[in-house]
Amino acid sequence: MDSRHAIPKRQLLSVVIPCYNEEEVIGETVARLKAFCADLIDLDVELICVDDGSRDATRALLKDVAADDSRFKIIGFARNFGHQIAVTAGIDAARGDAVVLIDADLQDPPEVIYQMIAKWREGYDVVYGTRTERQGESAFKLATARAFYRVLNKLSDTPIPVDTGDFRLMSRAVVDTLRAMPERDRFVRGMVSWVGFKQTSLPYSRAERFAGVSKYPLLKMLRFAVDGILSFSTKPLQLSIGLGFFSALLALAGVFYVAGVRLLTTQWVAGWAGTLIAVLFIGGVQLISVGVLGEYVGRIYNEIKNRPLYVSNEYIGFDEAPPTVSRSPVVRLTGAGTTRVG
Ligand code: UDP
Ligand code: MG
Repeated sequence: MDSRHAIPKRQLLSVVIPCYNEEEVIGETVARLKAFCADLIDLDVELICVDDGSRDATRALLKDVAADDSRFKIIGFARNFGHQIAVTAGIDAARGDAVVLIDADLQDPPEVIYQMIAKWREGYDVVYGTRTERQGESAFKLATARAFYRVLNKLSDTPIPVDTGDFRLMSRAVVDTLRAMPERDRFVRGMVSWVGFKQTSLPYSRAERFAGVSKYPLLKMLRFAVDGILSFSTKPLQLSIGLGFFSALLALAGVFYVAGVRLLTTQWVAGWAGTLIAVLFIGGVQLISVGVLGEYVGRIYNEIKNRPLYVSNEYIGFDEAPPTVSRSPVVRLTGAGTTRVG
């Protein structure tokens, strides 16, 4: 062959899979991902599994997989840091020209990624999966998720697509921008919306979890929803001002009422009930407002501590140490147990 005609470099696709106590699904997920890769002839693939401090056999199973398939790479967290942080670590380590985020439980069908790649090749920087239906979810989860996305959009200054999770493809430009965003409260889907670029949605049917139970119990889900709202909006602060005005107006109306009764009739407003209600009411308004303020102050406190976002004690399958992230130091525990911050 004529050596002057260089073979164009094949593009690389990184797939990031956060895993937390997923021993029941990991085997099937790996099989589906391998099948997915087999049909992807014109792209190289790296599969980055982020073990988010699982307490079951997930890590051991992943290590077996990585041992006989070099496309699989593992980032092992030293403890459970949460889904959004696991996804962030995967994004930090990904080298691909495009990066896909996908859940480990097969709720997001890997086959949908082919369509995402097609859209990416059309020139889109973000292709996010929008759920047209969700199989096997309780009516409660469906209703609360629906309500959450709508409330979030009402409050947020950045429009965040409704019924959209983290299942998405992002171009290198978007990934590099995300990596430069230093915040601790990482509501990844909102951050990707904030970045901009050319984004499009891809409708897909969200499957049932292959096995095991959701790692997002109600409380964690609620925390996640509050995080989403507070990290994308300061409107709750304005709402508490509104609540203050409302209670002040109510008090004024009360004054007029009491004065009116006293001046215009021969009676007067008596009793302790009114006083008690007023005291409790204003107490409630104040506590709510201080609580809202406190949530923001707590977040400032977390930010200024400037701790690393995550601590990982294992990196397996990476040619070189994953890149240092400029926004925060990454703590790695090396084989000998020494801590390297860099
Ligand atoms: N996950 C994680 N860390 C956590 C909780 C969940 O890495 O602390 C992973 C989990 O293994 C799965 C994905 O995040 O791959 C989504 O979690 P899950 O399916 O339990 O959430 P749901 O789909 O029920 O909202
Ligand atoms: Mg799931």
